[in-house]
This record gives sequence, structure tokens and C-alpha cells, in this order.
Amino acid sequence: MTEPHWESTAPAAPAIPDLQADLDADVAVIGAGYTGLVAALTVAEAGARVAVLEAGEPGEAASGRNAGHVGPLFWGMKKTPADMLQRFGEERGARMHRLVAGSGAFLFDLIARHAILCEARRGSLCVARTDKTLAAMIATFEQWTPFGGSFEVLSAESVRTLIDSPRYAGGVRVTDGGFVNPLALTRGLVRAAKRLRVQLFARSRALSAAHDGEAWTVRTAEGSVRARTLLVGTGAYADSLFPALANEAYTAVSGMAATDPLPAEMRAAIPGGLPFVDLDDPAVFGPMIDDEGCLTVSFLADGDTVDLKMAERILRPRLRRALPALAEARFTKVWSGKLLLTPDGAPHLLELGPNAWAARGCNGFGHTLGISAARELAALALGAAPEDLAFPVAPPKPAPMPRFTEALVRRVIAPLANRFGA
Ligand SMILES: Cc1cc2nc3c(=O)[nH]c(=O)nc-3n(C[C@H](O)[C@H](O)[C@H](O)COP(=O)(O)OP(=O)(O)OC[C@H]3O[C@@H](n4cnc5c(N)ncnc54)[C@H](O)[C@@H]3O)c2cc1C
Repeated sequence: MTEPHWESTAPAAPAIPDLQADLDADVAVIGAGYTGLVAALTVAEAGARVAVLEAGEPGEAASGRNAGHVGPLFWGMKKTPADMLQRFGEERGARMHRLVAGSGAFLFDLIARHAILCEARRGSLCVARTDKTLAAMIATFEQWTPFGGSFEVLSAESVRTLIDSPRYAGGVRVTDGGFVNPLALTRGLVRAAKRLRVQLFARSRALSAAHDGEAWTVRTAEGSVRARTLLVGTGAYADSLFPALANEAYTAVSGMAATDPLPAEMRAAIPGGLPFVDLDDPAVFGPMIDDEGCLTVSFLADGDTVDLKMAERILRPRLRRALPALAEARFTKVWSGKLLLTPDGAPHLLELGPNAWAARGCNGFGHTLGISAARELAALALGAAPEDLAFPVAPPKPAPMPRFTEALVRRVIAPLANRFGA
């Protein structure tokens, strides 16, 4: 494995100290990925004093390693918005859908408001291989319309002006979908948080968190933060700090591969410059050419280690079929990251104790579902009643057979999806 491609394309990391003192704050946040940073920013914008503790460096986990796709209406392609209404009830389901349908616009506005340089591109494509799957895709996207979801149906010819591919029968352009350089976004959120006087500490793992009846004290190796409210955004990288988080959702490994800058004739494979996803592929093939002209694409890890050989096996047949101009594009970087899958496919807001909550379960949609959950976490810290939120708030509950399910995904479901989706 190499370091993530984004390390060579994102602006340098802002300097952040480690915690070497005992501090007071209104809100303590654990984890400096999208969840922790967006929650911290939102709470700080409302005037609260916030301290964020990060075990490593911000963006070193999923938020700085991901594929960068922004897919507000992609959630729900398997369990549709209608299914979600049934499961969560009309009223709560509608709130949830409005929040998620608006999540792409929220993110692009946040990026603009804080002047974050992260290669942000607005608009993304979902493509289908057959008329039948295209019709099913459109029917599902239409379910988002009453909640503010905005998209445009594209014919095969229109898709071909955006992707030089013989493979697709048509698609949908999602207005508020798009792409961001994930590490640049994370570092931009850090800069924005610093400007709002959020106190950020890197290399400062929270080793214990205890409530004394009044406030929380979170201790690191060399300091502590005392705060009335505690927010936890440790995602798939949660350690044993809150044991209940260990089994609450499933952890999956996703691989990423990137090329060096491609020659112009290869870059022309995606003339529209927008990210796309092939939803006929159960392994969700989603290539993108970034500002440097490098092809980046994620894949489902189906073995114990992610390497170039695995990336080649999974991605080469897909590239040959979908993008002939990129058939021989050579991958030079490969890395991986962990993401969380919840048993019900929805984000989870978890009550960890008095005035303490965690947000988890992006299900591979950190820019949309994950950041929406982070906003809800901030709302809880600012005094919102749980029943007024979009996502339900509940104590952590063990997911059924987590280790078995994780092994099943890695050893059976991912290999089948990789093999038969190509
Ligand atoms: C390869 C890959 C591709 C993906 N592609 C996409 C995509 O294209 N689009 C999309 O929307 N989503 C995507 N995702 C999902 C997205 O990256 C995640 O949903 C999102 O980054 C999760 O953010 P987070 O802040 O919850 O967690 P993370 O970014 O993982 O951050 C958690 C942080 O908590 C810290 N931490 C843990 N324990 C402690 C402790 N005790 N004390 C202090 N800090 C602690 C960790 O060090 C870490 O930095 C992808 C994920 C992966 C792995």
C-alpha cells in the first residue's frame, strides 16, 4: 500500500498542538474526521467553547482516505426512500429525507462559506447499463422529489457527451452531488474551526471519559478536557474508549487506487469532468479524474490485504468495458480505509450518557449522511430535543453477529460483487 493519493494533492496540514494542559470547554469532541469537525464547527458558530481531541492527525482516517464522491440521493437506491418512510414513519422519515436531500447543497455551501480549497465540483452522474435498470433508477430518484431532491434524466446520447463509454443506456445527473478532495476538505474544516477559536489537539487520544454528575472529564496521556457536553465522532476507527461502540455497526474495508497524471487522450475518457457511479455494479464502480488529471477509483476489498494486484483484478475488467480509453491506465497508488455499515442502513445517533452522544453509520456516504448526522449531533449539544431531530436517537445496541457479518461481507459478498458486477 502507498499513502493516499490526496496526501500529494491536498494543501499542507495546518499546525495543531497536542494537549498538554487541563482545559475547560462547553463541548468536548472526540475525533477529527468530518463528524467531529462539522459538529465542532456548528457548535462553535453558535458561540460555544469547543475542544476537539484527535488520536492521530485530522484526516488520517476515513475522512482523508475516501473517494471524494458527494452523493446526496444515492443513499436509498437499495432501500428506497419509500422503504425508509415505512420503517421510520411518515413524519420522521420525511424529516430525514429533507435533511439528506439537502445534504449536498449544505456541503457545497459550507465549502464556499469557509473558502475551503478542495477541488469541489458540483454535479454527479448515476449511470445504468440497461433500459430496465435505468427505469428502476429513475423511479427511485423520483421518490426524492417531494423532499427537495433535484436531478435530471439523461439519455444515452447525453451520457456519452459526459462519459466516453459504449456501456451505458442512460443515467441521472444529481444537481447537488459532486466531488471533493477529501483530505483537502478535512484540512479546510480544521482551518475553519481554528478561525472560530475551536481548540484542536492532534496526537491526543482520549483514553478515558468519566461523568461526575455535572460534567465530563476526558483524559489524554498529558492533559484533560472538562465539558458539560461530550460528542463522539470516532467512526469506524472507534477504540475501546466506549466499548458499546465496538459492536454497534459493521466495519468494512474499502480500497482506493490512483494513477499518476494521465495524458490528454486518456483524460478525455470523462469529458464532463464529473464523478460517476455505475449502480448496475453491486461493487459500485465509481471512477473520477481529479484536477491533477489522475484517475482515482474505489473498490470493495475482498481479502485480508489491499494491494495493486487486488486493485488490478477488480478494476481492470471494469475499466476495459466502461472506459476503453482508460483500459490500460496504470495504477501507481493503492490504499485503504475503514467504513461503518449499520444493520438498518441509516445513520445512528447514540446516547452514551448524560449530555453525551455519538454519530455513526455513514454507510459509505460520509459527505451526505455522515455530515447530516454530525449536524444533528451539534443540534443535540445546542439543546435540541431528540424527538425533534431527523435521525432517531437511541442507546447503542449490539448489531447481530458483527464478526460473522464482517467476514461474510469480506469473504463472500464482496468477492461475488467484484466478480459478477464487472
Ligand atoms: C476508502 C473509502 C472510500 C469512501 N468513499 C466515500 C465517498 O466517495 N463518498 C462518501 O460520502 N463517503 C465515502 N466514504 C465514507 C467516509 O469517508 C466516512 O463516512 C467519513 O469519513 C467518516 O467520518 P468520521 O469523522 O465519522 O470518521 P473518521 O474520518 O474515520 O474519523 C474518526 C477519527 O476519530 C479518531 N479517534 C478514534 N478514537 C479516538 C480516541 N479515543 N481519541 C481521539 N480520537 C479518536 C480517529 O483517529 C479518526 O481520525 C469512504 C470511506 C472509505 C474508507
